[in-house]
Formats: sequence, C-alpha cells, structure tokens
Amino acid sequence: MTTSSLLRSPPFFLTPHHPNPKTTTTIKATISSNNNTPPAIKHRRPADENIRQEAHRLTPSIHTPFSAKYVPFNADPSSTESYSLDEIVYRSRSGGLLDVQHDLNALKQFDGSYWKSLFDSRVGKTTWPYGSGVWSKKEWVLPEIDSDDIVSAFEGNSNMFWAERFGKQYLGMNDLWVKHCGISHTGSFKDLGMTVLVSQVNRLRKMNRPVIGVGCASTGDTSAALSAYCAAAGIPSIVFLPANKISMAQLVQPIANGAFVLSLDTDFDGCMQLVREVTAELPIYLANSLNSLRLEGQKTAAIEILQQFDWEVPDWVIVPGGNLGNIYAFYKGFHMCKELGLVDRIPRLVCAQAANANPLYLHFKSGWKDFSPVKAKTTFASAIQIGDPVSIDRAVYALKNSNGIVEEASEEELMDAMAQADATGMFICPHTGVALTALFKLRNSGVIKASDRTVVVSTAHGLKFTQSKIDYHSKAIPEMGCGLANPPVNVKADFGSVMDVLKKYLASQQ
Ligand SMILES: *Cc1c(COP(=O)(O)O)cnc(C)c1O
Repeated sequence: MTTSSLLRSPPFFLTPHHPNPKTTTTIKATISSNNNTPPAIKHRRPADENIRQEAHRLTPSIHTPFSAKYVPFNADPSSTESYSLDEIVYRSRSGGLLDVQHDLNALKQFDGSYWKSLFDSRVGKTTWPYGSGVWSKKEWVLPEIDSDDIVSAFEGNSNMFWAERFGKQYLGMNDLWVKHCGISHTGSFKDLGMTVLVSQVNRLRKMNRPVIGVGCASTGDTSAALSAYCAAAGIPSIVFLPANKISMAQLVQPIANGAFVLSLDTDFDGCMQLVREVTAELPIYLANSLNSLRLEGQKTAAIEILQQFDWEVPDWVIVPGGNLGNIYAFYKGFHMCKELGLVDRIPRLVCAQAANANPLYLHFKSGWKDFSPVKAKTTFASAIQIGDPVSIDRAVYALKNSNGIVEEASEEELMDAMAQADATGMFICPHTGVALTALFKLRNSGVIKASDRTVVVSTAHGLKFTQSKIDYHSKAIPEMGCGLANPPVNVKADFGSVMDVLKKYLASQQ
C-alpha cells in the first residue's frame, strides 16, 4: 500500500477488517495514542473509483478471521449439522428453524472495549459500508461478505427519542425512550434485515448460484423493504399479494419500486403457501421471516441501543411481536454484546402483542405449557396480525433467557396509547401503540419502576398508518370511545365566528 493510499484510508487503525489477533495490543495502543494526535489530512479517492471500489481495495474481506454459518436453532451441543451461508437452505434437516452462528472464539480475540471503539468510530460517516447502522457491525453480521457485494441504503442509526412529556405526564417516568426503528429507508425496521438478505443474494448471484429473483408473501413492510433493496441492486423481486385485501398504501411501495406484483385470489396464508411451493421449483430466493439472515441485521438495533446509551444497559426493552423474529433478534444482539464483553448484563425483554392476535401471550400466561396457534382477528396493528408465528421457538427462547414478560393490548388500548403518544409530539404506528400499552400495564402493576430506564421499540413510521389515525380522530371506529379524538372544528369563514371559537379554545388551555 502506498503512502498516499494510507492517507486516503478511513482511520485505518479503527477499521481492521481483517485484524491480526496478535496485534490487538498494538491496535489498542494506536487507538488511545491517536486520540491526542491531530487527524491525518485525508484526500479524496481517485475520480474513477467509487466508494464500493475504495472499500474493496482498502479492506478485502478475503483475509477476515471471522466467520459465520447456519446451524439448527437451539441445537443440541452434540449436533454437527451446519451449512455455509452460501448454500440456499431455509430449514434444518428435521424441518426446524436455522440460526446464523458466529465464530465467537474468533470474535473473542478482541475485547469489549475494542469492539465498542470500532463500532463507535463508524457512526455517522459515509465510508462504505460502515455508514449503515447494520454494516457498521459487519464483523458480527456477515463477516465474510465482500463490501463490494453489500446492498445498503445506510439504514439503521435511527433516532432514540426521549419521551419526556409522555413519560412524565402518563407514567411518572423520566428515563423513557422510544427507539424509532421505523424512521428508516422504507419506513419500517424490516430494512435492517432486508439489507442483509439482499446483500447475500447479491453475492450468491455473483457466484452464479441459481438465483434469478427474490420472492415473498407479505401485505406490508416486508414487501416494501424487499422491493426497495432489490431495486437498488437491480435484482428482480416478486411479491405475492392477496387480491382485494390490500389498501393502496400497502400496494404502492412494491409497485413504485418495480417489483413484479402478483395479485392472487386468496388470503395471506394462501399466498404464503404458494410462494413456498413456487420457490421450491424456481430459482427464486425466499425472503420471508423463516429466513434467519434477516435477524442478523435486525439484531443490530439492540447493539445500537446500547451504543446510544454509551454502552450503559437499559432496564427494559419492549418490542411489539407478530411472527416473533424481532424479539429474538433483540435478544441475540444484547446477548452477543454481553458474551463479547461490551456490557455485563442484558435488559429484561417485553414482547407486546395485540389481544386479537395473541398466541405468545396465551402461551406465556399458561406458564409456557402447550403452545397453540390462534385464529388472528383483525387488528389496527396489521403487521402483527399473525396467529401461527413462524419464530415461536425463537421468541420463547429469548424471553426465558432474559427474564422476559409478554403483555397484550386491546384495540381500544392500543389506539388510545397511539393517540396519547402523538399528542406528546410523536407520530407512531399502531404496533408502537401495542408496546406502549404493555408499558402502561407493567407500570400500573409496579413491575416497571418509575426510575427504570425503559426503551420502547417503534417498528414502523406513523405515516404508513394514517387511515387508522383518521378513523380514530373522526370517531369513526365502531364500538370504540376514541376518547382522545381531536377532530377539526368546522367554522364559518367570518371574523366573528373564528374569534368565538379561538377565545373558547384559549380559555380551555389556561
Ligand atoms: C414485521 C413487523 C412487526 C413484527 O415483527 P415480528 O418479527 O414479525 O414479530 C411489528 N411491527 C411492524 C411495523 C412490522 O412491520
């Protein structure tokens, strides 16, 4: 490497993509000594090189000492079943779930403070691909992928909102936070997982594996994320949607992103069944929640929460759950941080379900006795309207190992909680209303204390769910009080009438 290319590189001591474990102390020494030295002057890369090529030149992944593979989820320690991440496999030999297992011994060659400095050094930059909240943790996500193959929209690094007024007014809490995972590229946390899945597909295609397109059955956020990331990479995406059961808002994202949208005369489960059968026959990669790659991206939201608190561990993290991959992803992210010495404990996890789709809640209430799927009823929290969650085993594992709790929210509770949050300056989705309801219940029962540092995970952007807010504020929801409705006032367009209503309003505000 020439001197000039060294000068151009990102802080080289902090991006040891392929660090040599024996030099850990040297690297650490460089980190601390460098804090006092002025940064070297950086030059722009040559005009004919883009940021992908630059990343490829500076940090060729071929030398990474880190690796990951698929293993059966929660396998017996004696199990030897495993698959390369470059294989196209969705389930274990026995038909169970898979999990991405990292070589922790390789990662443990570096201590917790090394990883914290490394991750912290990458936040807020444009260095490919580390400007992404997911890929800034690349060594823990897909260590072996070449940066050149990554498909990223610099997702993640989402805002942690201090819910000052909501916490104070409704809960007597002063350390309440809402992690806005939905303020994101396609408006939901699904981006965090989809960047990983589509990147791996991109790599498989470059390796000439039989993958022509990527498919999923979804009515909402998954198809939006899939079609956006595929469009960014020029990979065909195929979305299976039930005809006439989808709103315009749900349809428009995949359509705009150029997905091949199949409108099928069946329901969501029918679409799911078909996409599975079709992907078994055709070179279409399956992107549904069974796919364990997505969880590797989603788990980075947990790491990011710790990072945003300067690696102090919150007491509680509350996550809305439907297919139940995300609750496990959060557990996995926290657990890895503990295992690798970044923190000394993990938060207690709460999974929040809609009462209309509450199989995990019922299972928890039964003391984790027999699990039975339910028939999910319609809920405003439409992304968690799932009666037979794919990742049930993952969720139970996460909750048992985090001293976790499951709560539920009725339609009225979740809509009221959403309206309360919005009235304190947020603009949340109904799923976040479910999580806030769980918080209300656990505060009222004294389980969560006033001073507990609590993070509520917000999963989608509120603007995706405007119809439910309009219905609520118009008091147009059957059998719901809509107690916090704030409908517009119809006033005659003359000075006197406007003055009258304004005086009344101002008096009510004193
Ligand atoms: C997918 C989704 C969820 C549920 O996540 P699971 O991993 O299926 O439990 C919650 N909220 C929103 C907005 C989603 O899109």
